[in-house]
Amino acid sequence: MRKLLIGLRTSVKLMILFVVSCIVILAITMSVYRPIYSVYFDGEMVGYTQNKSKLQGRIADFIENGDDDNIAFVQIDKMPEYKLCFVKRDIETNDDEIYEKVTSEGQDYYKYYALTLNSEEKVYVASFEEAEDIVNELKEKNSNNVENLAIEQKYVNEKKETTDKETAVTSLYQEKPKVETPKKSAGTVKSASVGSGFKDVGIKFIKPITATITSRFGSRWGTKHKGTDFGAPTGTSIKAAAAGTVTYAGWNSGGYGYLVIISHGKGVQTYYAHCSSILTKVGATVKAGDLIAKSGATGHVTGPHLHFEVRINDVAYNPEYYL
Ligand SMILES: [Zn+2]
Repeated sequence: MRKLLIGLRTSVKLMILFVVSCIVILAITMSVYRPIYSVYFDGEMVGYTQNKSKLQGRIADFIENGDDDNIAFVQIDKMPEYKLCFVKRDIETNDDEIYEKVTSEGQDYYKYYALTLNSEEKVYVASFEEAEDIVNELKEKNSNNVENLAIEQKYVNEKKETTDKETAVTSLYQEKPKVETPKKSAGTVKSASVGSGFKDVGIKFIKPITATITSRFGSRWGTKHKGTDFGAPTGTSIKAAAAGTVTYAGWNSGGYGYLVIISHGKGVQTYYAHCSSILTKVGATVKAGDLIAKSGATGHVTGPHLHFEVRINDVAYNPEYYL
């Protein structure tokens, strides 16, 4: 029994000794080593960090904002990996170096607002408000192209040159084609009777517009159509069919809308009706093929077209015989 007690006492002592030595060893170990994160990037060990979440936060912030004002975000394909380990206390951490290494792999994306004209990118600005400002200014100036302007948000991986408002407005502004206001001096329009067949006047006419015939000369809806209609979208060029002098250029309330009449001599005239704009004036001398107007849908029409007449002493003849 006594032997047993002595044996028990010895093993308790041994136990205490063991625990104490463990604590001492741990203390010595902790004074030499410390827990730390080793960082791997792209399969390569790139350093150590004490504060993993702080480093992750910095990298996340960089991805979100980049390091330049215009950067929308930065794309980084690979992210670093962290492994907890024990290293000697004197090993230094290198957060800055790791940060540099990871962020230098990033692809910058810049955000811009592009002003497009017929879907073609024309100028770039930094904010939507600036883009809107430019469009509003162009609207105010009654620029002809406002309907074809659009604002598009763009993410691009190259830095674009931005344009200031004034330069953008100047480069995008497009003057509206002038339509002559109705004037008394526009000329006179006489009503014509309708002639039949072909009466040679010795003048060769060219087709006044690049378009197809949509309505022919002659009987139509119980009346006589005094010309040939060419269906063409508004704004199509109208050319003088032969050399002559402009004797009418302006509004006609009789149904022709904006009308041009050219006198070719010997009582021969050509009429160009329903124009959207007139690009000549009374008294102007024109050659065959000269631009005189743009087609449209003014006057009594159901759609945009050019109504073309050939008159000889105010008798309308079938223009198709003369083209
Ligand atoms: Zn017609």
